[in-house]
Amino acid sequence: MTPTLHPPVLDQSALDLTSLTSARTLLVALDFDGVIAPLQDDPRTSTPLPASAEAVAQIAALPRTPVGYISGRNMAVLQDLSKAPANAIFIGSHGLETDFSALGRAGLAPSGTAAEAPVTTPSAAEAPAATPADAEAPTHSPSDAGFSTPLTQEEDEALAALDGALDDIRSRTPADGFGELRVERKPLGRTAHTRGTSPNRAEFFLAELDAVAERMPHLRSFSGHAMTEFAVRMETKGHGLARMIEATGADAVVFLGDDTTDEDAFAYLNERDDLVTLPVKVGTQDTCAPFRIADPDAVSAFLARLADARATSLRG
Ligand SMILES: [Mg+2]
Repeated sequence: MTPTLHPPVLDQSALDLTSLTSARTLLVALDFDGVIAPLQDDPRTSTPLPASAEAVAQIAALPRTPVGYISGRNMAVLQDLSKAPANAIFIGSHGLETDFSALGRAGLAPSGTAAEAPVTTPSAAEAPAATPADAEAPTHSPSDAGFSTPLTQEEDEALAALDGALDDIRSRTPADGFGELRVERKPLGRTAHTRGTSPNRAEFFLAELDAVAERMPHLRSFSGHAMTEFAVRMETKGHGLARMIEATGADAVVFLGDDTTDEDAFAYLNERDDLVTLPVKVGTQDTCAPFRIADPDAVSAFLARLADARATSLRG
């Protein structure tokens, strides 16, 4: 264990849940990769730890305890891989995509109560019309991919220029080493992944991606775990979490995240003095979150404890 981490790694049992679990509406907001699912070299194979999936299902079945996923994944992939409860809500693409349609399905309005929570993956095809809080986001179909407004011509051109720059980097991949720069296409941007490439190639790709970010300052760009993301709109997980709090009417919020991009959400929660908040960093990266736990296994134990404590509080 690294002794110099601030905040230090706590055993999850040291996190005080009392104020959270006694709140009227408790939002449990979760990053997916590195939190609910251990990080994988091939991100397509990510899957929730069974103990976390079970705990999340228990939480989502409780009244006034909405569960939200906030991820860098695009919406369709997030909804597929997360195996989330049917009444979960989602922010995808680091804040660029929103699907709160389950709030309407579950009857969970800001002042309402949660209905039954069958544990099945939600189907985009059966999503009803957007709730008022989500009025700007159309419901999602494979063709609209779920972003709130279509690309402007300017954004379209910016994406095309970005694609050209990424193709150019790939075409200059060093002969030595192994692994390719993988480009994940998202509705409003691209994520370039270097995970699984040899150190010399990873170094080359990261330097080239940094250069693209400098050449294209009109794009929102940031780097995370072996990836650099570019987007044509300025939205963050902090914006996404703010929308979730607004839509659920939560007066208490826990958020668990492991990556650089989660810092925007931690920073947002740190500013919300009007709410009970518990921002928790997972892993060893630098953070502005006031609390830190070790890894996805610790997340499983934390969520199981939270499920029990919230159920007990609601009964009492
Ligand atoms: Mg993550």
